[in-house]
Parts: sequence; structure tokens; C-alpha cells
Amino acid sequence: MPKPSPIRHLILVLGDQLNQDSTAFTGFDPKQDRVWMAEVNEESTHIWSSKQRIALFISAMRHFAKELRDRKVPLSYTPLEDPNNSQSLEGELLKAIGAFQPQALIMTAPGDWRVLEKIKGVSKQTRVPLEIREDSYFFSTVHEFAQHTKGRKQLRLEYWYRELRKKHGILMEDDQPIGGEWNYDQENRSSFGKAGPPPIPKPLRFKPDAITTEVIQLVNDHFANHPGELSATLDGFGWPVTRAQALLVLTDFIQKRLPLYGQFQDAMWTKEPWLFHAHIASALNLKLLSAHEVVNAAEVAFHKQAAPLAAVEGFIRQILGWREYVRGIYWLKMPEYLELNALKADNSLPAFFWDGKTSMHCLQETISQSLKTGYAHHIQRLMVTGLYTLLLGVQPKEVHAWYLSMYVDAVEWVELPNVIGMSQFADGGLMASKPYIATGKYIDRMSNYCKECQFKPDQSHGQDACPFTTLYWDFLMRHESSMNKNPRMMMQVRNLKRMSDETKAAIQAQAKQHRLSQQS
Ligand code: FAD
Ligand code: SF4
Repeated sequence: MPKPSPIRHLILVLGDQLNQDSTAFTGFDPKQDRVWMAEVNEESTHIWSSKQRIALFISAMRHFAKELRDRKVPLSYTPLEDPNNSQSLEGELLKAIGAFQPQALIMTAPGDWRVLEKIKGVSKQTRVPLEIREDSYFFSTVHEFAQHTKGRKQLRLEYWYRELRKKHGILMEDDQPIGGEWNYDQENRSSFGKAGPPPIPKPLRFKPDAITTEVIQLVNDHFANHPGELSATLDGFGWPVTRAQALLVLTDFIQKRLPLYGQFQDAMWTKEPWLFHAHIASALNLKLLSAHEVVNAAEVAFHKQAAPLAAVEGFIRQILGWREYVRGIYWLKMPEYLELNALKADNSLPAFFWDGKTSMHCLQETISQSLKTGYAHHIQRLMVTGLYTLLLGVQPKEVHAWYLSMYVDAVEWVELPNVIGMSQFADGGLMASKPYIATGKYIDRMSNYCKECQFKPDQSHGQDACPFTTLYWDFLMRHESSMNKNPRMMMQVRNLKRMSDETKAAIQAQAKQHRLSQQS
């Protein structure tokens, strides 16, 4: 076969860059340029990626590739099952460079530090220049965040969030926040109480089409021993895999769930995984949706009086605030951030995190739901699984690997700061002003999990004691000297000081016993 003639640009499109209007396509000329995409094993095995997560990425990539082919965009695409697939990004890119001899590689900035390093390495090795363009699907740039942090001892979401609201004129009246407050947290975050949740609108899910069905079969064959469940039914996999589907999910959320989003943002309920959340993180992270259009849709709903200010502000803060903030932190602190372990946690992750088999009902619910759907909402991640690993003292890197494996929305730039910084306090307080710790009583207040549990959330030791409550006091004892110096922990440390030595000893012994019983 004759060798193809050299091309001008090879446009690199990764599995989480599935937007046709991305900056990588600016100036694209189908006569001189070509798009490159590859499905490789390595991206699903460097962590033990769940079946839901792998299926979502591959299906969305294949749908995107089809859209490009339908538009007659020249495309080199390596499917996972190609017998000549080297199963690594570098391997596939080297082959494409060899075949097409591009003058330059062009891509939108990747989300992962690890992937960026690999691609830079290939560019260096082949001496084909690499042009990296800004990702316009975010409000801010990594550089803007770095500028914002200059001269600040502590990084806090609130200042960054306000800066972005002002800069982009979001929920603003001149230079003041609409309604007079920047933050309506005190109106949000109720539990469902004894009565339970109000009617929960059925979430919009999509029955797997032919492409997704084929991918599901491939994943079930190829990654049979990976965690989680996956089948080609509406119940077995229903995530949006195209931009058109993602837009429908966004509209459905804005119309049906946003009005109660803020109020019940932190509430949890047995056998109710979806509640009033948006379920759009995977679509946002794969760039099926842009942050601008999501924030805009919520703001329009407020102006049309279709949703209250507290709900809209609470939702916008997650995307304009938290999402942009964690991205900034990731790029500011990588690669060192991955290694942080400020609390010197050295336990391993209990085996039940991979199958959900535990007598602690809150953990059993959250983990089983995650394995089935690839989804858990923020408070389940922060105040159930994350709280437990923090209190138990699991190595942050192991906790990170679990979160990155488990969720359909898991990509490292957003997952890592949430785990290392927010959930495990492994950065020593760079991101959060204090560790998010609580006893089982918090979980009892925010859910009905404890009602169906053999343990009692208000008991710290003894046969019925809730392991969260035991481990909470044990955590405070283990870290008393450092927590003593944190003004936001004063009250909790003061409560510890009131405890008798006898009780403290009983708690410590029980915590030790619990830890031993969870060693995998
Ligand atoms: P909603 O509750 O409806 O929120 C709307 C959107 O706001 C989300 O889709 C998301 O894009 C954004 N958002 C909300 N909270 C955060 C946050 N803390 N950081 C960044 N964006 C946020 N989010 C991910 O996208 N990927 C991850 O891998 C991820 N890992 C997490 C790990 C831990 C330990 C914790 C505590 C949080 C993690 N989050 C992650 C943040 C958050 O839990 C998810 O974005 C959210 O649960 C996704 O569900 P949703 O789309 O229904 O979100
Ligand atoms: Fe979880 Fe403790 Fe409540 Fe059981 S009692 S559900 S372990 S918080």
C-alpha cells in the first residue's frame, strides 16, 4: 500500500475532549489535517476502572467518531479490539505520527498531568512540535487561577468564586450579587426528615443504542474482572453518550430538579441514588456540555422565576466555584499533590469498598449504588465513603485510586483535589480549612441509613457502637496536637477533653479492633 502523503496537523482528541467546537479544531482544514483518537487498555487499567466508567468513555468516543465521520472529517481511530493496538497512548500516537508525518501535533490542554507528560514525551521523541491550546469549556484558565493565588497563604473557594462571578457577570446586579448575598448555604442543605423525600422526578436515562450495546459487550468481555455492574438495559447503563443526550439531561434537570436542588443537596435516602441532583458531571467532564451553557441554563431559570435564588446560586457555585477551583489547584500543585499524606495515614482500603459487602448500612448503600450505576452524590462521597476512609486512616493514594476507578465522572483533575484536599485533608489544609469529620450522628441526621443499621450512631463504644462514632473520637485523639492548633477545630477538641480517661481508653481499644477487622 502506498504511504500516505505527509499532513499539516494531527489533531489529538482524547476520551474526555468530545466537543467539535473545541479549540483543537480552530483552523482545521480537512484537506491538510487529520484527527487522531485511540481507545487503549492502559487508560482503563492504570487504575482498576469500573465497567460503567470504561463503557461510558468508549461509547462516547465511538459516538463522537461517528459524528466526525458523518461530517467527512479525516480520522484515524484505533478501537480497543484492533489486533494491532499497542494498548498505550504513546504507542498509538507514535504509529500515527509514523504513518502521517505531521508537521505539528495540536490539542486542547488535556485534563490529566500524566497524559500531558506522555504526549509531550512523544513530541520530544519524534521532534514533531506540540501546540497546546486553552480549553474554552471552562470559565477560567489555569494561568488565571495561578495569578489569583499569588500572595495568598490559604486558598479558599469563596474568593475565587466571587472573582469569577464578578468577571463573568453571573447572578450580579452591577457589582453586587443578586439578592444581596454571595452564598445561600443557610437556606440549603436540609434533610428529608422523618417524612422522607417529596416525589422524586424520574431521571432521564437512555437505553443503550447499537453502538453502546456493542461497547457493553466488549467491556464485559475485555474487563470481566473489573469492578461494578454493566448490562445493555436501561437499568444497566443509562448515561448520556452524545451531546444531544447530554443537552436533554441538562434541560430535564433544570425543569424538574433544580427547584429543590439546593434544599436537598446534602440529603441521602436508602434506595434513592438520584434524588434532586443534576447527574451531569460525566457530560461536563467529557465536554459533551460546556460549563458556560450549564451555568447559563440555571441563571435563565432563575430569571424566569422557574427556580429560587438559593437553589440556583447553590448549583452555580458547584460549577463556577468548586469545579473551576479544583482544576486550578490540580494544575498548581501537580505532580506533588498526588503524594501528599499530611495525616500520615497508612492503613489499606478495606476490601468491602470493591463489593459493598459490609454491615455498616450507609457504606453498603453508597458503595453498592456506586458499583451498580457509577454514581454517588457529593455528600455520599464526602460524608460516607470519604469520611470513613479519613477516620480509619487509609493511605490517601489508595483512596484516590478507588474514587478514580469508581465514578463515571471521574477524571483526575477534578477527582484528585476532591479526594486529597477536601475529603482526606491530606494536603494539610491547603484546600479545606478543617478536616470534614463527624460522628455517625451526622449521617443519621442527613439520611435514613441508620434506621436500617445494626449500629447506633450515638454510641461510641460497646457492642452497638457506630464505627463512624468510635473512629471519630479516635481520630481526634490521634491528631489532638495538630487539631489543637486549628481554630475551627477548637470546639471538637474541647469536647474530647471533657471525656473521661476510661471512655477514651475504651474507644481507642474499639477503634483498634475495628481497624484490625478491616485489614484486607
Ligand atoms: P450535582 O450535585 O448536581 O452538582 C452539579 C455539578 O457541579 C456537578 O455535575 C459537578 O460538575 C459540579 N460539582 C459539584 N461539586 C463539585 C466539586 N466538589 N468539585 C468539582 N465539581 C463539582 N466530581 C467529578 O466531576 N469527578 C470526580 O471524579 C469527583 N470525585 C469526587 C470525589 C470526592 C471524594 C468528592 C467529595 C467529590 C467528588 N466530585 C467529583 C464532586 C461531586 O461529588 C460530583 O461532581 C457530583 O457528585 C456529580 O454528580 P452531579 O452531576 O449529580 O452533581
Ligand atoms: Fe452508618 Fe453508623 Fe448509621 Fe450504621 S449507624 S448507618 S454505620 S452512620
